[in-house]
Amino acid sequence: MRTPGFVEVSNEVIDELGSFAGTENVITDTAGVETLSKDYYWYSPVLLDRLKDYRAAVAVKVFSLDVLLQVVAVAATHGLPVTLRGAATGNYGQCIPLCGGLVVDVTGMDRILELGGGLVTCEPGTRLVTLENAARAGGWELRSYPSTWMKASVGGFISGGTGGIGSVTWGTLRDNGTIRRLKVLTIEREPRVLVLEEADALRAFHTYGTNGILVEVTLRLAPARRWDQVVVAGTSWAALRDFADGLAYDDRVPKRLLSVFEDPVPSYFKPIRKFFPEGQHVCFLEVDDAFTAEVGARAASAGLDVTHVIPHAEPRRAPMLSDYTWNHTTLWAIKAVPELTYLQVGFGDNFAEQIDLLKARYPGEFLVHLEYMRIGSGAQSLMVRGGAPLVRFTTEARLKEIMDYCAEIGVGIANPHSCYLEDFHPKGDYGREYALKREADPLGLMNPGKLRRFPGVAAPMDGAWPAFPFA
Ligand SMILES: Cc1cc2nc3c(=O)[nH]c(=O)nc-3n(C[C@H](O)[C@H](O)[C@H](O)COP(=O)(O)OP(=O)(O)OC[C@H]3O[C@@H](n4cnc5c(N)ncnc54)[C@H](O)[C@@H]3O)c2cc1C
Repeated sequence: MRTPGFVEVSNEVIDELGSFAGTENVITDTAGVETLSKDYYWYSPVLLDRLKDYRAAVAVKVFSLDVLLQVVAVAATHGLPVTLRGAATGNYGQCIPLCGGLVVDVTGMDRILELGGGLVTCEPGTRLVTLENAARAGGWELRSYPSTWMKASVGGFISGGTGGIGSVTWGTLRDNGTIRRLKVLTIEREPRVLVLEEADALRAFHTYGTNGILVEVTLRLAPARRWDQVVVAGTSWAALRDFADGLAYDDRVPKRLLSVFEDPVPSYFKPIRKFFPEGQHVCFLEVDDAFTAEVGARAASAGLDVTHVIPHAEPRRAPMLSDYTWNHTTLWAIKAVPELTYLQVGFGDNFAEQIDLLKARYPGEFLVHLEYMRIGSGAQSLMVRGGAPLVRFTTEARLKEIMDYCAEIGVGIANPHSCYLEDFHPKGDYGREYALKREADPLGLMNPGKLRRFPGVAAPMDGAWPAFPFA
């Protein structure tokens, strides 16, 4: 079945691609292309329904910048849509092509080019675990990484992700100059490499591969610390919530992770259920090992128990509490209870009251999962009580009702049930990102359909989507 607006790739073009990329790296069989066209979009029952039939016409695996330049030139010459693919762990269908054409897998471009002095420069397909291990060997560590770090690529993280483990101190990738420099390839008959430095590089951050191809990334690192992993549990939700919140705002205690789960969410973490008692609310922490005893004492004075500690080990190895945090919480939840789905939220200063309101209105339907992150840079930064609460999915209308209620009581939502970029920050001004798109993608070939408001380009599925929550 061909979806509306599907762009085919001719046999002549397939032969041309094979002549320089290697025929084995040009995938044309239906099953192969289907696999390389999909990500974790099924996380959302809404996206699963909308996106299941979409795929590229052809997939190309690329291992060098030289070959990528040639693929791009062919795409520009023949007017073929180009959708980039890293490890495809994106969970909003970011790398599902909506208009056929080419899906270009860049996980083969995975060399670390330079590491030292608190900076790492690498190719876009480099996995985050590789970066973290290499950085640690030199006394540094990543400032933040997603819970998918074992698989995810740095290019995919910058283009499709936000932050994760480490964000409690360093914020998202947008903050504190973490992205030092990006080199971006334009999609033209004669592709150019644009060099974007410092704040200018943020124009290519979190844009779903719509405004240039990341071909080289330079990130700032943090000095490595020894991170103990600590589990704190208790029967009182209010006690656990206040303990976690107090720790979040205490900058004296170096932290890499601070995740909070309302009972029964921890019961979904099957492999590590022995780390905490059944029926309790649980907090997962990564703290500098010099502060583990202090955290234990604070927990005890709040009437909570430290139920497990995994001492720091080098290299870091399983079990990792972070494998159950951020959006991995959702993964474990769906495995345990298939009708669960999730939201991505930011609570206000009255977060305790907001949570109580949601729990009272949707008992058993809205389950709390908090992640703390420090958003913004330096003295201007703000500790944010965010998270990915779980929601028992029944209908889209009910999901919309819950999101509308969140908005009504001041809970911000980055809608994870839409593949449109702008739905992530509905009130965001995408002017700078769009300006880069005009420069890097003058033919409008990059991941077409993912921009809702880009002037002159209609999102192909508009009308097919429910107008929620902020459209
Ligand atoms: C279980 C689970 C947990 C997750 N946890 C987190 C989390 O903690 N934090 C977080 O931020 N995200 C999280 N995510 C989302 C996702 O895993 C991350 O954002 C991840 O970093 C994406 O990397 P990837 O290589 O898989 O990218 P992909 O999914 O392959 O791509 C993501 C987007 O980037 C584009 N892209 C890829 N490479 C390039 C390139 N070189 N140039 C331009 N565009 C490109 C793609 O077209 C796509 O739009 C999670 C997802 C899952 C399924």
